[in-house]
Amino acid sequence: MNTIRPLPQSVIAKIAAGEVIERPAYAVKELIENSLDAGADYIVIELTESGMDAIIVTDNGHGMPPGDIKKSFLPHTTSKLSDINDLDSLSTHGFRGEALSSIAAISILHIKSRTKERETGYYLKIKKGKVEKDIPFGMPVGTQVAVHDIFSSVPARKKFLKSKRVEYLHILEIVLSFAMAYPHVQFAVLNNNKKRILLPTSEERRERFNQVLGKESADKLLPVTYDDAYLSIEGYFGTPQLSSTTTRKQYIYVNNRRIYDKGITTAIKEAYGSHFDKKFHPVYMLFLTLPRDMVDINVHPRKEEVRFYHKDQLLQKINEVVSGQLAENVMVYDSPWNKLWKNSTQTYAGQILKDEDLPWKLPEIAHDVSYVQLHNLYILLETKNGLLFIDQHAAHERILFEQFSATFIKKQQTMDSMTLPKACIFETSVVEKEMLLAYLPQLQKLGFTIEQYKKDQFILSSVPLLFYDRNYNVLIEELLENLREEKKQTVDAYTHKMLTFLACRGAVKAGDTLTQEQMQELAEQLEKTPNNTTCPHGRPTKIFFDKRALDRMFKR
Ligand code: ADP
Ligand code: MG
Repeated sequence: MNTIRPLPQSVIAKIAAGEVIERPAYAVKELIENSLDAGADYIVIELTESGMDAIIVTDNGHGMPPGDIKKSFLPHTTSKLSDINDLDSLSTHGFRGEALSSIAAISILHIKSRTKERETGYYLKIKKGKVEKDIPFGMPVGTQVAVHDIFSSVPARKKFLKSKRVEYLHILEIVLSFAMAYPHVQFAVLNNNKKRILLPTSEERRERFNQVLGKESADKLLPVTYDDAYLSIEGYFGTPQLSSTTTRKQYIYVNNRRIYDKGITTAIKEAYGSHFDKKFHPVYMLFLTLPRDMVDINVHPRKEEVRFYHKDQLLQKINEVVSGQLAENVMVYDSPWNKLWKNSTQTYAGQILKDEDLPWKLPEIAHDVSYVQLHNLYILLETKNGLLFIDQHAAHERILFEQFSATFIKKQQTMDSMTLPKACIFETSVVEKEMLLAYLPQLQKLGFTIEQYKKDQFILSSVPLLFYDRNYNVLIEELLENLREEKKQTVDAYTHKMLTFLACRGAVKAGDTLTQEQMQELAEQLEKTPNNTTCPHGRPTKIFFDKRALDRMFKR
């Protein structure tokens, strides 16, 4: 363990853009990195108000002597780098000496730390970058960093923060990313004094995946390994049954540091080849180990991207290894999920369009007009003064959205639901579990009856009528994904977003063939629907061409 020293000017000049703590989750990331760098195998993350108010990270790492604590929050002071040449061979997460100083600049910072050589620890309180308290403190070996009143000194930044829910999910995502890479470290997360996550130590990565993804999911990961003098690959690749509607469950690590890299993502996508429907993304964890001087980790302010030397060869190798080993492990080509998904729109939504009982008839558009479907996407029809193009999906989305909203308001805000003949049990990842629990009341109002069954298992016993023929796992996963980037926090905004989503998934798709009757229904129904010029996402539903414009073009 080195002591903390200021970085030489020559090194500071070489360091990539300064760290900015834009949101609480970034502070959490830095604090966990410090605990890991200190060799901790026990890290507790305590949040108040999902980290918007306070973050306390406690570890059992090697700690700091009082002299180091007093230097730790100064800009560009670090114990991890002293020589310019060290930049090429870093094995620690941190090296710029910026995190604690950036955090101190936006908060009230408390640092408590004790090394094993000392009988007691030491406590320092830093406010506006200045030491306010400075006393010996009884504590076990390790470090606790508490960040209070985040952004109190920069209210402008506070304004741009997303909701607590979004921030909390982001923090969980960060904790879990580390957890996958460090199975021998125990992680615990508490929010407002409630225990949310406890991941006990495990010998193996696979065991950690069980803890994070759920056992059933982890069983669907195929191992892939490769080793040569320069590169080792340890990969866990999901079968198509484990596919996801998002790319969030793709974890790439270089020397145990999670990174994002388009090149690698593409190489893997290609390796999966035709195993996937375009709508679905594989789930995987890929751990690459390379000699430290073959990657530059000093290129991104949050160290989320790295630069590889000989990148083309690396990508080719990844593609080769992954595609080879995936092909050997008989992949199921067309997963039942995909089939269900593909067939679904033709059935129930199509039926609604045909359903005579629905009060959809409207005299505005002449009954003898004929409808032309173009590219299975646009409906063209003649009107009194010109031509009307309708986007079938956007139009149907708006129609359903207005119907759903009306029903929702009328029926004491509850949608028609259908009890499933057989309740369906599904498993969630840790993040999905947290989201589901948060959204249960709203989902209930929409007609989903979901109850927590075991720790990360839920029972679905009813669904909104429109979705009775769907694959519920996919539907719920997509719905949650859709909600997670929500900016406003009101219940109504969530409901609005859910209704938009349900309308979108219920609507006829681009690519569905429609009959004359269906096109007519759609066009007529659109005319009597409020807000009918755009879909709930704001795209146009119809475009009108005036006959006079055509006349002019033909020089009539
Ligand atoms: P960096 O991690 O880039 O060195 P930081 O600002 O994150 O910079 O931390 C500054 C220094 O404080 C570190 O180099 C380390 O010596 C010390 N430090 C911070 N957190 C801990 C911790 N949890 N345990 C031990 N030492 C720590
Ligand atoms: Mg650090």
